[in-house]
Amino acid sequence: MKQSPEMQRIQETMTFGSLAAHGFLGHDTRNLTDIIRDDTLAVERLGLTHSAIADRMEYFTELASKRLGESVEIDGIYRVVCEEHKGKLPCPFADNVRVAKSMTTVINAENHLSMRWSALNVHMIRAHGFYEGLGARFRVDPKLTAKALGLKTS
Ligand SMILES: [Zn+2]
Repeated sequence: MKQSPEMQRIQETMTFGSLAAHGFLGHDTRNLTDIIRDDTLAVERLGLTHSAIADRMEYFTELASKRLGESVEIDGIYRVVCEEHKGKLPCPFADNVRVAKSMTTVINAENHLSMRWSALNVHMIRAHGFYEGLGARFRVDPKLTAKALGLKTS
């Protein structure tokens, strides 16, 4: 899909700008518009929404952040650790949003799936439907997320 000049600028910021070191796009060869569209379709096929996924991630981050750096058991199934670092990260979508540098890791003891995400991931999913490109260090795969975090899918 051809993308708007605005999305093109954001993609260039992600690729060449000050945030390039994050590697948001991984080795993905699709443009940003297509990456977001394909993940949005995947989320719809699961019967979920970006907000529902972001809410579930935030649920774990919030509970675990009360005991930073410690492994916390949540709902008898999940072992969760939240770590926070000094400073804030700007959202690459040029919306003036800056989020805390926090990292949450979850292990699901029932199905042994694990995943991790940053506060920026949660914001980008909720506000922009962006899960990062294939091969990105912090890509959040919608399907894996649904399974690892026990979201009810269709
Ligand atoms: Zn944003």
